[in-house]
Amino acid sequence: MRLDAVISNAVSRLSDRSDSARLDAEILLCQAINKPRSYLFAHPEDELDELTHNRFEKQLQRRIKGEPVSYITGKREFWSHNFLVSPATLIPRPETELLVDLALQMIPHDSDWQILDLGTGSGAIAISIAAERLMCKVTATDISPDALAIAQKNGRQAKLSNLIFLNGDWTTPVIGKSFNIIISNPPYLAEDNEALMELHCEPKKALTSGADGLDDIRILARDCADILIQDGWLMIEHGIDQAHDVANILKAEGWTDIICHNDLSGRPRVTVARQNGK
Ligand code: GLN
Repeated sequence: MRLDAVISNAVSRLSDRSDSARLDAEILLCQAINKPRSYLFAHPEDELDELTHNRFEKQLQRRIKGEPVSYITGKREFWSHNFLVSPATLIPRPETELLVDLALQMIPHDSDWQILDLGTGSGAIAISIAAERLMCKVTATDISPDALAIAQKNGRQAKLSNLIFLNGDWTTPVIGKSFNIIISNPPYLAEDNEALMELHCEPKKALTSGADGLDDIRILARDCADILIQDGWLMIEHGIDQAHDVANILKAEGWTDIICHNDLSGRPRVTVARQNGK
């Protein structure tokens, strides 16, 4: 079958399963033929051999059953880097690039800041920042050894020497240390959030946090002040309906200068706060 026919056929079978049926089909086909997406546009008439077609069909079946494309290909682009992902890690989201963007606005270019990414998952945030601030030292932690193994692989792939990875629960692996800025994309969905049906392939522990989704943010608000320098910054991603609650949690723990920033779709997504010497 010609490549363009393979794609049309896949799109029609995927369209009630995926909002991005064409893109999904193209990414999976490119993986099967080991070519960039531009090849599909340049050579629509190429014939797919049977072996490759079978390989593509197997991957397409996984997508039709609801597995995210990134787990099928094992990678995802974020902040112009290619990251390995696995079912032990969340798939990095475009909205999380706001965290990286805001952090880079705050971290001066030639500084040697100590930066902490709590709950790093695939390492996407920590590695993206470390690559843009080579004089800074970035520490990335995760409670899941399997996620941390993926983050470490991504770190090695990025060939950065200003990164370290530590295993443990929130601030536990860095108690006694002191950072200029702490960044986190913690789990923040309520345990009964309907979106979880769609996210069933991703690790629940990385997505949900108690009845209102805020349990881990409460822990960060309580514990992060102890490992920040005076006037250091905390930056947390949260749900679009949580800005008010997050601000109240931070205020109650003595944080100041609390500001919420919108993501590219104009939805409140990241709250930044300053530590005033707890
Ligand atoms: N942003 C993710 C989602 O809503 C949730 C990620 C998280 O809990 N940190 O799909």
